[in-house]
Amino acid sequence: MSSIAKNLQHVQHQIASAAERAGRSPSSVRLLAVSKTFGADAVMAAVQAGQRAFGENYLQEALEKIAAMQSLAPAAGLQWHFIGPIQSNKTRPIAESFDWVHSVDREKIARRLSEQRPPELGPLNICLQVNISGEASKSGLAPEELPGVAAQVAALPNLALRGLMAIPEPTDDVARQRAAFAAVRGLYESLRAGGLPLDTLSMGMSADLEAAVVEGATIVRIGSAIFGARNYG
Ligand SMILES: *Cc1c(COP(=O)(O)O)cnc(C)c1O
Repeated sequence: MSSIAKNLQHVQHQIASAAERAGRSPSSVRLLAVSKTFGADAVMAAVQAGQRAFGENYLQEALEKIAAMQSLAPAAGLQWHFIGPIQSNKTRPIAESFDWVHSVDREKIARRLSEQRPPELGPLNICLQVNISGEASKSGLAPEELPGVAAQVAALPNLALRGLMAIPEPTDDVARQRAAFAAVRGLYESLRAGGLPLDTLSMGMSADLEAAVVEGATIVRIGSAIFGARNYG
């Protein structure tokens, strides 16, 4: 078995045991393999181990990898998620090549993605990124901006607003990890109570995935625990 296949198996086991501890079904949590900085060979090893959903942060790198995978494994049915910062002049290739975007943090970006989404591909799945730790340098909507932007994005024709994404401030303290994820879930529940049909909480990375699952994550975004340490990004 490749080390990527072993790592995937280990991460799936961590997800399942955290879900069981929280009284959740393991199948209610989907694993997004974050392949940024790794090549098509690494993606291929994960595909051979059964992984289908991949997350990417850097547009040019992602487009090359998506094209490479289309020629290596044309029938694999891969799903591509854009999870990095979005410049407004780069929305068209994102709208044309991805299935999901987790990092939408302003209405203008969502409007461009909707306008540029080829209708024959079906709606582009969207998560709004929320800045839960209040750090000035981080991207994401402030919690008080969320209801207004969520209503605007939900009304756009070629998008499907699915939920929220967050990257809390890193900490080794599990209680603090859980508190941040619980705050994201609270925002998500209040949008749902307001009538938005959301079903996705994208939260948890290699270092805090168990806390995220316990607090209700439905997608965890895992890079280094699957592919190994990165030199950048
Ligand atoms: C890189 C990245 C991840 C994965 O991080 P790891 O710590 O390697 O698991 C998840 N989400 C986002 C938005 C990222 O940029």
